Amino acid sequence: MKLKKREANIFTKLRSLLRFGCAALAFSTELSAMRFGSSILLFLETSAYSLTHRRMTTMSAGLSNLDYPIQNQDAPKILRFGNSKLYEKSLPFNLPEEMPLVHEVLEQMRQATKGMGNVGLAAPQIGILRQLVMLEIPATHTRYKTDGIAQPMRIMINPVWKALSNDKNVEWEGCLSVPGMMGMVQRHTHIEYSYFDLGGNLQSVQAYNFHARAVQHEIDHLNGVLFPLLVENRCTLGFTEEIMHSSEFKKSRGLV
Ligand SMILES: [Zn+2]
Repeated sequence: MKLKKREANIFTKLRSLLRFGCAALAFSTELSAMRFGSSILLFLETSAYSLTHRRMTTMSAGLSNLDYPIQNQDAPKILRFGNSKLYEKSLPFNLPEEMPLVHEVLEQMRQATKGMGNVGLAAPQIGILRQLVMLEIPATHTRYKTDGIAQPMRIMINPVWKALSNDKNVEWEGCLSVPGMMGMVQRHTHIEYSYFDLGGNLQSVQAYNFHARAVQHEIDHLNGVLFPLLVENRCTLGFTEEIMHSSEFKKSRGLV
């Protein structure tokens, strides 16, 4: 009797998937559910449905993938907004003596972000207060206004930046430490940044617009600053799904 009740519940949920255009998945899941016992049904109820529901929600918000990635549970944990470590300043590495330590920290950062499709990560985001950043700029992005120009993955040791003009713009930002949220931040649009690469060589790069914004965002992490602290118009700080439906966001993308 109990099982029948649970089955009825699950089938109701599965049918709701059909209504949201997920017919193939719901149909095959329903067939499987009928063949297996209560433990499988419970598993379907708690995992497959909730994940699919989340995917549908983000799809309806106009995203081609999840609005924020789900971290692998075995990976080093990414600290979230509110964790006091994120507000501390990070120490530079002594090079070349500490290059082996750079590689150790970098490996932790890679594990933490494996498969997450993020733009950048700074070491303090996994609780390591050292000046190390990994950054890869995509040509396009579902949420961020890019320049259509991809930049290769850069591993930056002890990075610094300076403005090359007084020009600034205001654009949307997000952060793995502030999952599921976005806000508008004013940044310099033309900068030069310098860092040591993994070979211990000093590199200098000029950056514009989104590239420049991402660099400033990551180096802020090394100084204990998170983007929500820089949002001047606090009405623009909110959940990604809400923001992407807002007229402010659509206006910024030329959609209205
Ligand atoms: Zn960030």
